[in-house]
Amino acid sequence: MAILKFLGATRTVTGSRHLIEVDGRRFLIDCGLFQGLKQLRLRNWEPFPIDPASIEAVILTHGHIDHSGYLPRLAREGFRGPVYATPATVELARILLPDSARLQEEEADYANKVGSSKHHPAMPLYRESDVHEVLHQFESVNYGRSIELTPRLSFDFIDAGHIIGSSFVRLRLVEPDGEEKIILLTGDIGRYGEPIIHDPSPVAAADYLVLESTYGDREHQQVDARARLAEIVNATVARGGHLLIPAFAVGRTQTILYYLRELEEAGLIPVVPVIVDSPMASNATRLYLRHTEGHDIEMKDLLDERRNPLATKRFNLIRTRDESKSVTNRDEPTIVISASGMCTGGRILHHLRRRLPDPRNTILFVGFQAAGTRGRRILNGEPEVRIFGQMVPVRAHVETLESLSAHADYHEILRWLDGFEKPPRRTFLVHGEPEAAESLRQKIAARAGWAVEIPDYLDEFEL
Ligand code: ZN
Repeated sequence: MAILKFLGATRTVTGSRHLIEVDGRRFLIDCGLFQGLKQLRLRNWEPFPIDPASIEAVILTHGHIDHSGYLPRLAREGFRGPVYATPATVELARILLPDSARLQEEEADYANKVGSSKHHPAMPLYRESDVHEVLHQFESVNYGRSIELTPRLSFDFIDAGHIIGSSFVRLRLVEPDGEEKIILLTGDIGRYGEPIIHDPSPVAAADYLVLESTYGDREHQQVDARARLAEIVNATVARGGHLLIPAFAVGRTQTILYYLRELEEAGLIPVVPVIVDSPMASNATRLYLRHTEGHDIEMKDLLDERRNPLATKRFNLIRTRDESKSVTNRDEPTIVISASGMCTGGRILHHLRRRLPDPRNTILFVGFQAAGTRGRRILNGEPEVRIFGQMVPVRAHVETLESLSAHADYHEILRWLDGFEKPPRRTFLVHGEPEAAESLRQKIAARAGWAVEIPDYLDEFEL
């Protein structure tokens, strides 16, 4: 028998952390930060629901902060075990976690400056020094290699096609009578037919399935993402405006760069400066080029021809803040990709403050905008948004290209579920807002007749 306990990402898309307990030994799959709504973010500050020192190991599905960003805090509170992750995820953590710490420290500094915290002084959730500690606990595990956690429990990683290094975690539990049970946790499921990386791997069997449902109620537009991107670029450049793309540093940035390079080579968009203004996105872009184990066939071919699939003709990876400032002062039309993807922090805020008031410009959203984020407010058509304490009018065009999302829509989730030879005994939906999870539950029930449950925070189940 094993116990599965949900410590996050229940009826929400952030804070992924799921506990498996076997013979009193505890393992955590993902260790994500809560983001978005304040009531969720406050959970980051509550004592962890179980003693972190009692967790033997953490297994990471991928590097995104909503799956990994609580690790430094967990370690600070006593977690000392290994963190298992694919080689690309290990490298991503080295980029993303220090950045997350800097954001935490900046937030605390800001709260101290304006006196907006109840706590004096306001403290960051963790610091860069905590990150350096936990990074020593990481251990690389390649796809397909089995790791024994206890004599009865082992796991392996399967390519999830979501971002570079992303994986499903397949746990194998051997019962005392010799029966084997498979517990599969999807993390985030990628798209089919995306450039650069593989499609999500088919999985034929699981007794228990923990399934993401981010876009459980949505269909990605069937439009050709590349063609739509070309239209948006051309319209913006024709107005003499700038195209600003808030993007997650890891994944979307590289997909957009790939498409922009293709469009430019095909003469479908003009050659304008393409600027990646995020040290993190720049590092992630280099990492994407290096990790060939995740590349699809076209990406491999381009690299074999010694071409850079992720660079346009006038391409610039920006590092320093001074360079970043000079970009916001440019008049010639530019395409700027900057983080964070939901406009909750980072250099994108400087660009937004400058570009939002001008109707010639376009803000293009290419990823999910969680409730409560600045990105969601802009997308919802609010006439002004607060940036650095000032109200900034939104006069720029606001566009969205959901089909550039790194998450499968419900068609793709159902397509992936079709790979199962028989239904899991139980399926749990996580990582979706309530409507999305409920909608996906109904669709799976209607299509396959599976019993599907939507757990609540801290619910636990015997498997
Ligand atoms: Zn993700």
